[in-house]
Amino acid sequence: MSNLETQLLFDPICGMWLEPQEVASTYTYLQVTYAFCCGQCRDLFARAPEFHVAQLAHEPRQSAGYRCPHQC
Ligand SMILES: [Zn+2]
Repeated sequence: MSNLETQLLFDPICGMWLEPQEVASTYTYLQVTYAFCCGQCRDLFARAPEFHVAQLAHEPRQSAGYRCPHQC
């Protein structure tokens, strides 16, 4: 693979940048798919998607600050 443009996906819950193969779970809300490092992050997002989407619209690189078990 010589593709240098690795697309990193932002986990808006814990703030991790994920390589595509690290994405454990996704959630689609209003036709936008969000990527998460684990099911716990996804569940937190799914609990209040409108809140997190509004937060992201305001501050795209600001995570919810949740420290999930995957983040060390
Ligand atoms: Zn996470």
